[in-house]
Amino acid sequence: MPCPERHVIILGSTGSIGTQTIDIIERLNQRGYAFSVVGLAAGKNVERLAEQIKRYHPYAVCIGKETEGEILRQRFPKVRVFTGEKGLRELARLDEVDLIVNALVGAIGLPPTLDGLSLGRTVALANKESLVVGGELVTKFLDEYGGAILPIDSEHNAIFQCLRAGRLSEVRRVILTASGGPFLRVHKEELDRVRPEEALCHPNWAMGSRVTIDSATMVNKGFEVIEAHFLFHLPYERISIIIHPDSVIHSFVEYHDGSLLAELASPDMRIPIQYALTYPKRVETGLPRLDLEKISRMEFETLDHEHFPAFATVLKAAKQGGTSPAVINAADEVLVERFLEGGIPFTGIASGLQTILSRWESAEADLKEISSDAGNQDEVILSTLLAADRWARKAARYLSF
Ligand code: MG
Repeated sequence: MPCPERHVIILGSTGSIGTQTIDIIERLNQRGYAFSVVGLAAGKNVERLAEQIKRYHPYAVCIGKETEGEILRQRFPKVRVFTGEKGLRELARLDEVDLIVNALVGAIGLPPTLDGLSLGRTVALANKESLVVGGELVTKFLDEYGGAILPIDSEHNAIFQCLRAGRLSEVRRVILTASGGPFLRVHKEELDRVRPEEALCHPNWAMGSRVTIDSATMVNKGFEVIEAHFLFHLPYERISIIIHPDSVIHSFVEYHDGSLLAELASPDMRIPIQYALTYPKRVETGLPRLDLEKISRMEFETLDHEHFPAFATVLKAAKQGGTSPAVINAADEVLVERFLEGGIPFTGIASGLQTILSRWESAEADLKEISSDAGNQDEVILSTLLAADRWARKAARYLSF
């Protein structure tokens, strides 16, 4: 029986996860699947988006800037071209969409996730900020509108797979593995002097630059704890971290009987992407497989909180909930940029996050008054989160070291 056609939108189509999603779609279509790319969104890379339009013929696209949108409208008069953050929301609400792959980077990914979920759609989620910034709202939308999230982040995809072996009530805890990033063995005193190019060398995974730096500071792992909290409805006390430099095991689920289930695979994001696309089926990927005989041993160690102080700050914000995770996320995005530009030391990311979170604790009250106007309650919450995001961005940009 031929596979039914599935209409897919890819948000963030020119980035690392976006291009790998397209690669998987091509591979699946060669195997008889019928994925049709109906919408694409990119931030800045207009040339690559134009190439994708020529190749996949989406009927709508979105690009960051209006001037670039105009260029695309002239080149592709038959394609609907949206622009900016509003455009992302319109794209997520297009008619006759079966799956939204959200591979955007940053808080900008939250509104289109909510829009897709409000229509009861399935979102294959690589944009962690949707849950880091808007986890409470996303949970509410899932309850109210009956959509679904399929996690693409490798750890959460692993947990999602391991959870198929038991009930949520049988889970004692989940254990996220962390590679430790490029500076696991670098002496604490030397961290002040590490350069952006050293931080961008992740030992195991090829990823975008923000998430690579976030892996080096362990901010990424903090965000993943928040993701797991909302995705799997687990209290923070039941989400653990273990350092596993080999990145062979992508995460564990520990059940009450003491059984630990793990998912292992080559560190290739196309495997979790494909799992989200074909779920609940598993099909051949044609990708290199994990060769167990070549893995002589696997190592595990405890997370050293002193070595990675940013992790505790993210977790503090997570437990505070409300707007605090949005603040940490936005501040981190700016501090990472400043580090990559050579403006602040690597250790400034962790210390900056701590300063900004404590400043926020006193600034938040003022902001609440501004946003308490009546209106659609969900939109009010969303605009409060985005206002917190803007506040943190500014605070991080002007923070002096
Ligand atoms: Mg991950």
